[in-house]
Amino acid sequence: MMNPQLDRFFEAVVDLCGDLYRLGWAENHAGNLSYRLSEDERRLFGEGDQRRTVTLDEPLPALAGESFLVTSAGSPFRLLVKEPRRHTGVIDMASDGGSYDIVWGLIGDRRPTSELPAHLRGHAERGVVDPENRVVLHCHPTHLVAMTHVHPLDEVAFTRALWATNSESILAIPEGIGLLPWMVCGTDTIGIESARKFREVSVVVWPYHGVLVGGRSLQAAMGMVESVDKAAETWLLSRGPEQHAIEEDQLRELAEEFDIHPPARFLSRS
Ligand SMILES: [Zn+2]
Repeated sequence: MMNPQLDRFFEAVVDLCGDLYRLGWAENHAGNLSYRLSEDERRLFGEGDQRRTVTLDEPLPALAGESFLVTSAGSPFRLLVKEPRRHTGVIDMASDGGSYDIVWGLIGDRRPTSELPAHLRGHAERGVVDPENRVVLHCHPTHLVAMTHVHPLDEVAFTRALWATNSESILAIPEGIGLLPWMVCGTDTIGIESARKFREVSVVVWPYHGVLVGGRSLQAAMGMVESVDKAAETWLLSRGPEQHAIEEDQLRELAEEFDIHPPARFLSRS
């Protein structure tokens, strides 16, 4: 592409989007990604020749001066991997967090993902509890979405069902998951509600739709989606008249052995 460092950066993004597509979690136009660039990474993209400014409905001062790589609205991940510059872009947040400039990519008047409100609010809130958070990823993990159709939409029960499928689930998802009621996607409301959940968990499940995940790296975010979907797949496959799973006391044993501290509402250690 332009320079070897930028090529390397995009290799990781392209790998992730390609994997999501092949796993069937980013079909057609589904799936979107935002990545908070470090200062060094931002420099790779230069100053940009033409800036397009977009004003936010509500300012996000927590993101003032930050820069993000974002995927484009309506761009299939299947095509993104072939032409990343066309289907992604870099945005610079204004110094008051009230607007952003598109400074790179998104060629041909493309716009950032329609889920940008959820991404930006997610970065703002997740950044409070984990300043090293860099990624917000949205996709449609098939088994997890299927599970929202058959499992009660109760956050605690849902988390416990996922944890009970595999001894390593509670280790992979120690914070549990956040679960929203169904709501219209692409809106400020789902962004605000998801961001609220991000104060406590890095995985927010949108029933009958998909998941919004935060992570310190692309790999961390992807790994979380893999663990959640694997647990959901196992849960679905093991539906039947005879049911056995990891019991509450056994979850406590796992938490003690690996010194993890799940939120008390999901599992009290006492
Ligand atoms: Zn979606």
